[in-house]
Amino acid sequence: MRLAFNNNPQIIAGLSEWPDRSMVWWNRLPVDEAVLANRDGYFKKQGIDPARVAAGGIAHGTNVAVVGELDAGKYLMNTDALITNAPNLFLSITIADCLPVYFYDAAAKGVGLAHAGWRGLIGGLLESTVSEMQRSYNSKTEDLKIIIGPHICARHYEVDEDVAEQFAEQNIERRDGRPYLNLAGEAESRLRTLGVKQTSVSPICTYEDQKFFSARRDKVEPLQGMVAYIGM
Ligand SMILES: [Zn+2]
Repeated sequence: MRLAFNNNPQIIAGLSEWPDRSMVWWNRLPVDEAVLANRDGYFKKQGIDPARVAAGGIAHGTNVAVVGELDAGKYLMNTDALITNAPNLFLSITIADCLPVYFYDAAAKGVGLAHAGWRGLIGGLLESTVSEMQRSYNSKTEDLKIIIGPHICARHYEVDEDVAEQFAEQNIERRDGRPYLNLAGEAESRLRTLGVKQTSVSPICTYEDQKFFSARRDKVEPLQGMVAYIGM
């Protein structure tokens, strides 16, 4: 699916779907050949040259890669978030229930993309991505437009108590005494605290919508998931 930044058709952003097959890249090399083939085929279908895509995987860390021409076509280790201001260079991350967070700054002409699960949120991955855009591109938070793409919703995202207690109470829902985490709510409140004013959240839940892979719902080994991408 394509994700649209209103009035900014020069930004190409999206998320692969179940029929595109699995795109999961765990943070290790070499990349599985089937995944490489799936990704190359998918990007070509989107009109994107796979050699122009820089990829982050699932590391559940807080590293932000500042991506330039030399990174085109590469798989970057220990990278849950990427930013670039290079035109026609695409950023990608792996997603399977976690939040794909897309950043665009029309004034500074930069984009970013983050894979944020509960560890990334707690670790400050979104804050790091914003501050790296500020440092590298002179972005101002009030100019940032952010889209939180399809993700697992709070109704389907039960977490352990020791995870729940790390989050603001308003982002934990309790049912039958068990805690459920609202990932997007946590992301939104963190972005608001930074001064970001333009955040939109996809209503699509990856657990409920069969168009997408869901780690929680599918429970398959190896994990299957989507690739999220953005570029100018
Ligand atoms: Zn749901």
